[in-house]
Amino acid sequence: MAVQDTLGRPLRDLRISVTDRCNFRCVYCMPKEVFGPSFQFLEREELLTYEEIVRLARVFVAQGIEKVRITGGEPLVRRDLPLLIEQLATLDGLQDLTLTTNGALLPAQAGPLHDAGLKRVTISLDSLDDAVFRAMNDVNVGVDVVLAGIDSAREAGLWPIKVNAVVKRGLNDHTIVELARYFHGTDVIVRFIEYMDVGTTNGWVLDHVVPAAEIVERIHQVLPLEPIQANYRGEVAQRYRYQDGGGEIGVITSITQPFCGDCTRARLSPEGELYTCLFGTNGFDLRALLRSGAKDDELGDAIARLWGIREDRYSDLRTEATTDLNRVEMSHIGG
Ligand code: SAM
Ligand code: SF4
Ligand code: SF4
Repeated sequence: MAVQDTLGRPLRDLRISVTDRCNFRCVYCMPKEVFGPSFQFLEREELLTYEEIVRLARVFVAQGIEKVRITGGEPLVRRDLPLLIEQLATLDGLQDLTLTTNGALLPAQAGPLHDAGLKRVTISLDSLDDAVFRAMNDVNVGVDVVLAGIDSAREAGLWPIKVNAVVKRGLNDHTIVELARYFHGTDVIVRFIEYMDVGTTNGWVLDHVVPAAEIVERIHQVLPLEPIQANYRGEVAQRYRYQDGGGEIGVITSITQPFCGDCTRARLSPEGELYTCLFGTNGFDLRALLRSGAKDDELGDAIARLWGIREDRYSDLRTEATTDLNRVEMSHIGG
């Protein structure tokens, strides 16, 4: 039986960020002016080891976690990631194990990740317009690199494949329909994400958000859509299918239609801090507890206690005042 928070939300999903480093500098996530050559990333010894991550994951599963998503930073830049996947994939009680990546390193790693037990993957690709995409990742990686990553995931048997696209007004919103059209009629589900005010470094303002309703409408004008039921309670994306049978898309509406009421997600940072909200300002130091010799039931009790007092509903309450908080960066705790 999963532990519940003060709003009756069970602890079901765990996002594990395995690194705060990334080979991209997406302008909406890790702007170069902040994440430049002198930026102080975590030292190796600060990171949870794979043994520590697996131990914590086992404790989390005992507290109700059914689904784990590996994220970052860019998870594929952490050395020997398949070794972690291999151990997580065999955890009793874990029903779903997935990973979010920018895809650039997938051609080399999709096969080993699949062999290690990874079933599926989400790949971020914000635009098919090469100039737009290069400007967004800001390290001059072309669209072809990520498309090769998607192909390699499919060839390796990672399925289903989802594509995440953050939409920022004036940057890539004119390329939404092209992205939808490219994957229309394929088995890839594109999920358009409203640009969020995560962290404090990306200069977010409301004017840069393209509401999901507008995204859907723009696609619907060209490729008619109709809404469909969520797969399960608490699913992050709202689903739409093409009326001609060409598959489906999703929209993630955290700004215009927040979904805190069903939020069952906890997040573990690379150095072992537990966050109960993407917009948290500080996490609970599980690593200190772990390295002080705590037993599994003590770790479990700490997690249950923290979740039990959880009141987070940042997106529901988003106001001028809350957007001023010193929030953790997305590249630190993952999307
Ligand atoms: N590096 C990997 C990647 O990009 O897929 C995993 C980590 S990244 C932080 C996870 C997801 O968060 C990506 O799909 C990314 O586009 C999304 N993201 C980052 N910053 C965002 C923002 N400000 N608003 C909405 N989504 C954001
Ligand atoms: Fe890196 Fe992902 Fe953030 Fe882009 S969105 S900078 S790929 S962590
Ligand atoms: Fe969950 Fe926090 Fe996002 Fe609300 S704002 S959906 S509580 S992570």
